[in-house]
Amino acid sequence: MTKQKRMPSIVIIGAGMTGILMTIKLREAGYTDLTVLEKSDKVGGTWRENTYPGVACDVPAHMYTYSFEPNPEWSHRFAYGSEIQEYFERVARKYGVTSSVRFNESVTSAIYDEGKWTVTTSKDDTMVVDFVINCTGILHHPAFPDIKGIEQFEGDSFHTANWDHSVDLKGKRVGIIGNGSTASQVIPEVAKEAGTFSVFQRTPQWYFPLPNTNTSERAKKAFRRNPNKLHRLRKAYLFGFSHFITKAVTGHKVQNFLFSAISKLYLRFAVKDPDLRDKLTPRYKVGCKRIIVSTLFYKAMQRPNVKLVTEGIEEITTNGIRTKDGVEHELDAMIISTGFNPTAFMRPMNMKGKNARSIDDAWENKILTYRSLFMPGFPNNFLMLGPNTPIGNYSVIAMSEVQCGYVLKMLDHWRNERFDEIDVSEKTAKRFLQYIREGMKNTVWLGGCNSWYLDKDGDPILWPYTWEKWVKEMAEPNLADFELSSFSKENKLEDAA
Ligand code: NAP
Repeated sequence: MTKQKRMPSIVIIGAGMTGILMTIKLREAGYTDLTVLEKSDKVGGTWRENTYPGVACDVPAHMYTYSFEPNPEWSHRFAYGSEIQEYFERVARKYGVTSSVRFNESVTSAIYDEGKWTVTTSKDDTMVVDFVINCTGILHHPAFPDIKGIEQFEGDSFHTANWDHSVDLKGKRVGIIGNGSTASQVIPEVAKEAGTFSVFQRTPQWYFPLPNTNTSERAKKAFRRNPNKLHRLRKAYLFGFSHFITKAVTGHKVQNFLFSAISKLYLRFAVKDPDLRDKLTPRYKVGCKRIIVSTLFYKAMQRPNVKLVTEGIEEITTNGIRTKDGVEHELDAMIISTGFNPTAFMRPMNMKGKNARSIDDAWENKILTYRSLFMPGFPNNFLMLGPNTPIGNYSVIAMSEVQCGYVLKMLDHWRNERFDEIDVSEKTAKRFLQYIREGMKNTVWLGGCNSWYLDKDGDPILWPYTWEKWVKEMAEPNLADFELSSFSKENKLEDAA
């Protein structure tokens, strides 16, 4: 008699881009015992949360789509945030994800013991499941700067991740702290409205001039008629980005030369005033920090109402920002665009793995994973888009799809074979870290800058090799890399037989 395949119970945490994908793909593969928990009242994750003016994806829209759900309607080369949010809402509805998500219910704790996770939610529900899949995203915990006096500012103040739409910036004296990817999208929009706009820059950025062109109605019609065109376009973008931008930052000299030359020439010709240009010129290699794709930033910085402040912030006062040269810049509104904590992942949930060890304790000194997805001592738990997944300036959707394929294969092994627990040893995770460190030697992330790409020890949070290498290595799990254990009666009996 053939053995009935086991059906694992699975909790998916988060209904953003990855949670939607995971739910669709698990269902397609025949998994029925799924619970999707979402802390908010809508799907969409980062695109639901980030609503600042100018919010857009700097990865081309046709590349930033699920491979199975092309979208002929994208209005521009780089889609705006609201369009992306609509896309995720539409896909989630179409595949019946929305109706099954438990909204406004966050996971407060997840505790592991012998092949099972006990998951408790903010609505005091508790469930015991075989697997937890963390689809909680990477950059969602806003980082606030540790600047003296920040709490005493009496004007309007908010982080870009929590944009306060009730504040009217028209004609006001506005300041922004930070000039990263987010601020570079905000600045051109706020510059149009503000009376005066002071941009407090600590470190200049490199920009790559790819304009955000409209998609013509004719092109959209052609895409609607022939979805193959969309598939081909997606592939072409993926190919172009992986063979140009990704390679440029991971040790490929020709691509790096071209990439650097274009960015440098762009700065040279786009900014007329030599003093301003000098202040906007980074002293580190192109690509060391995330390259910003924009043709709007330099234009905005040359508007008469915009002032670049590079003297460094001394303190925040009740009226504005005092810089190190003693000047007080009076402001009505202060925008904080200082990025995110990239290693907070599934926090603040109380997650405890084997021997009741918390994730905070496990990661106190070093974040250790194996292939980004597996945390040693936290079995049957997948961390989607975990450390060393991100590939600079590439589509995280494409990355999630590859990881999703890997997770499905691991679950398939669990269903077909005689083990209940999938874990990795610290030794395996350390070996993986060593492998990541070796790759970093070739990257431009050591090119003289600070960025969220590196952790406090200088190890990369990104994947330091090419996209192709990642896809190849993620194609098939090697069970020899894992520690597999049995607890259930049936599995133990079969082991003994
Ligand atoms: P970020 O790139 O980390 O930039 C933070 C900015 O704040 C930097 O300019 C930084 O200066 C500045 N800063 C931080 N602490 C400061 C302090 N104490 N005093 C003065 N300045 C301070 O953050 P982000 O712009 O939010 O972007 C984060 C990531 O989000 C990006 O790398 C990207 O992956 C993602 N993102 C993507 C898109 C997209 O289109 N796909 C759009 C927006 C964001 P230093 O450079 O000196 O540290």
